[in-house]
Formats: sequence, structure tokens, C-alpha cells
Amino acid sequence: MRNKGTIGGSLAHADPAGDWPAAILALDAEIEIAGPRGRRTIKADNFFVDLLQTALAPDEVLCEIRVPITPRSVAYEKTEQKASGFAITGVAVVVDKAGPRVGITGVAAKAYRAKAVERALAGQASPTAEAIARAASHAGEKVEALGDIHASSDFRLHLAEVNTRRALTRAYAAR
Ligand SMILES: Cc1cc2nc3c(=O)[nH]c(=O)nc-3n(C[C@H](O)[C@H](O)[C@H](O)COP(=O)(O)OP(=O)(O)OC[C@H]3O[C@@H](n4cnc5c(N)ncnc54)[C@H](O)[C@@H]3O)c2cc1C
Repeated sequence: MRNKGTIGGSLAHADPAGDWPAAILALDAEIEIAGPRGRRTIKADNFFVDLLQTALAPDEVLCEIRVPITPRSVAYEKTEQKASGFAITGVAVVVDKAGPRVGITGVAAKAYRAKAVERALAGQASPTAEAIARAASHAGEKVEALGDIHASSDFRLHLAEVNTRRALTRAYAAR
């Protein structure tokens, strides 16, 4: 099922536990949309609106995803729901010369950028393990976490911090 799915289909569906939204946010991608009124481009940051809701109008299709090519290192850390593989929490990290970008899925109604984590590490080329851990503690800041039979909201927030710390550690180590 996962191998047949498309990246565009996953983004358009905006499942709160889908993996691709986290990656596309961290990669600072642009999304090209086409419809009867022509084409428009929006940043991934502005694409996810709410649970299963995106910036797509009912008569529009997602037709292209553009990912900037820059020197960078990346990591994805996920705690998956064992039966389906969907993310209970998934954290994508991209580190380039501007600092880290962190996309988090599975925690809230929509995937989000963890900007407080990013700010905490801005300007640090090789942060210490302590600095990474401190930054990761902001992973769930101002986020209304979902709770369901797979994980409580508190556990999701805990996993967001743990997976953020792990993904940051791997991404910085790979530079
Ligand atoms: C058992 C199972 C396990 C799964 N595990 C995972 C997982 O671990 N991680 C994960 O991320 N996902 C997982 N998925 C989701 C799976 O990958 C989805 O099928 C896929 O993400 C959706 O892509 P699709 O191309 O099949 O879209 P579709 O199912 O064809 O479409 C999804 C929705 O988006 C709309 N749509 C599709 N393409 C576009 C477009 N270009 N423009 C506008 N609207 C569009 C469709 O009309 C529909 O409403 C799982 C699904 C199942 C059933």
C-alpha cells in the first residue's frame, strides 16, 4: 500500500500521521497547485491547514513539489504504529548552513514546523549534546497534541521530544 501511494496523494490527504508532510516541511519545499483559475505556488509551511485539510480548493490538484537543492544533512526518526506503519510521531530534520529545519508529524492535527527548536539551535554549527537536548525539549511547544488508542497526548509529546533529539543528533553528526 505504501509503495503504491504517491507523495502528492499523501500531502493532499494530509493525514496527521502521514510521513511525507514532516519531510516536506523540513525540506522547505514549494508546492505547485493547478486549477480552473490557473496555477499558484505555496510554501509547504502554508499548505497544511488542519486535520485532513490543506490549502487546496476542491477544484484544485497538487501537480508539483519542488525541493531546493542545497548542501545539507538530513535525518528522520519515527515511532510507528506497529500494525500500519503510520507515524505515532515522526520527526524530519534538515540541517544546512542556515541552521536546522524540523518538521513533526503524528503529534497534532496537522504536521508542523518546530520553530522553537530551530531558533534554539540557530547559529550553532556543531551544537553539543546538551544544546540539542535543550532544543528538543521545545518540540511540542504550543502544540495541542492528539490522544487516541495508540498513544495519549502526553506520550506523543514525549515521543516528539525524544525523536527530535535523535533526529537532530543524527543530522548534525552526518555533516
Ligand atoms: C495499511 C496502510 C498503511 C499505511 N502506512 C503509511 C505510513 O506508514 N506512512 C504514510 O505516510 N502513509 C501510510 N499510508 C498511507 C498511504 O501511503 C496513502 O495511500 C498515501 O499516502 C496516499 O497516497 P495516494 O497516492 O494513494 O493517494 P490517494 O489515496 O489516491 O488520495 C488521497 C486523497 O488525496 C486526493 N489526491 C490524491 N492525489 C492528489 C493530487 N495530486 N492533488 C489533489 N488531491 C489529490 C485524493 O482525491 C484523495 O482524497 C498507509 C495506508 C494504509 C492503507
